[in-house]
Amino acid sequence: MPVEFKNKKITVMGLGLFGGGAGVAQFLARQGAQVTVTDLRNATELAPSIKQLEGLPVLYKLGGHCDEDFINADMIIINPAVPKDSRFIQIARNNHVPMDTEINIFFQLCPAPIIGITGSNGKSTTTTLTGKILQQTQRMTWVGGNIGKSLLLELEEIKPSDIVVLELSSFQLEELYNAGKSPGISVVTNISPNHLDRYSNMEEYIQAKKGIILHQKPEDYVILNYDDPELRRWERECKGHVLWYSTKDTLTNGAFVKGDDMVLSLDGPRIAIPCISRIKIPGIHNLQNILAASCAAYLAGANSQHIGNVVTTFTGLEHRLEFVREVHGIRYYNDSKATTPESAMAAVTAFQPPVILLAGGYDKGSNFKEFAEVCARHTRAVILIGKTAEKIKELILQKKAQQETPSLFTPGTFQEAFQQAITLAKTGDIVLLSPACASYDMFLNYEERGRQFKTMVQAL
Ligand code: ADP
Repeated sequence: MPVEFKNKKITVMGLGLFGGGAGVAQFLARQGAQVTVTDLRNATELAPSIKQLEGLPVLYKLGGHCDEDFINADMIIINPAVPKDSRFIQIARNNHVPMDTEINIFFQLCPAPIIGITGSNGKSTTTTLTGKILQQTQRMTWVGGNIGKSLLLELEEIKPSDIVVLELSSFQLEELYNAGKSPGISVVTNISPNHLDRYSNMEEYIQAKKGIILHQKPEDYVILNYDDPELRRWERECKGHVLWYSTKDTLTNGAFVKGDDMVLSLDGPRIAIPCISRIKIPGIHNLQNILAASCAAYLAGANSQHIGNVVTTFTGLEHRLEFVREVHGIRYYNDSKATTPESAMAAVTAFQPPVILLAGGYDKGSNFKEFAEVCARHTRAVILIGKTAEKIKELILQKKAQQETPSLFTPGTFQEAFQQAITLAKTGDIVLLSPACASYDMFLNYEERGRQFKTMVQAL
């Protein structure tokens, strides 16, 4: 383990609630660094992360940042969610204080090969599936990253023969690119506009995502979604082997669907895994996630049995098209993690029966035109809350034109929205929370939004 952190004065900027900040602060404190944790949020909001640091000699500066922590420091660890134009980053830069990120430190120190998974939607599902398949093999498998777990604390146990599966966000990839690193096996699930409140345009966002391939070596692999028009264009920039997956086309080099078989044709004999009809997670998008994960796991040593076992039993993650309960023939689904129009479209179209949709929230600068069209075609009612409610309502009104459905509502609270949904729902309907927006205008995060929804469903 490096000694370079011992006695160093390190500021962790952005503790957050998703594991990265708490992980790196713990790691550094255990390495003997003098750690200051600073965050715009206060101690109450950050309570779960602060609890993880209990007993460690960490100094807190919460509810805002102080200039001195960015001047009198040996190093700043920046949370990927911190905007690049932050005044404090500028202060650190002006004072020549080196900056790094949790994930870069992990890449630098991890002795095992890394599978890195990114994309606008489906990262966590694909990461979890890949991890679960590899956990069936003999190979010790570690899963972490943007999914909400820092693996820094596990570093001492990770051996060169193990395998690490990391979910990587565009923000993490930007910094990884600057550090000259890419994973040995990379997966990109899809590219659609996201975080355009943070990137000045789509090109800049795509460039950040490309960090996952740009420092790959010729012996490395990248697994790309053939059904995604943007990703089709990436091939010429890939340095390693390119493998594709598709739910629509037959491929010579990659994974595809033929009848009930998932076919893997990956630089070797073709294997067919009969499993498609037994997959439990709904929607074409989840079939894509399964193909991506199967390719990655196969490259890292999984066989058809390991893959088949997992893809026919995995029932999905919390807050991702999560089935909550059936009451009076009405099925309730929590898809609170759908924070982009594309993920909500995937959810709405995953169902046959009429959908009563709860959507809306914080405005990330997304374009809701296509989402509005999908709502006009596939839902019976749309109940909208939050900052984007009026904007989405207007677009759906334009798309539905003279049609009777969907009926549209914009109540003031989440509770009223839920009551409205119950009033409208009939036997055979689906009540779906799939907001197409982030949650920050009304909730702490998507998890709190999803939990509130489930509590209301459970109370019925
Ligand atoms: P991410 O980690 O990229 O946010 P998740 O797996 O957590 O992705 O899923 C987030 C949301 O996107 C969920 O609502 C889920 O139903 C939806 N989703 C999952 N996979 C895909 C996909 N491949 N394409 C579009 N939407 C998806």
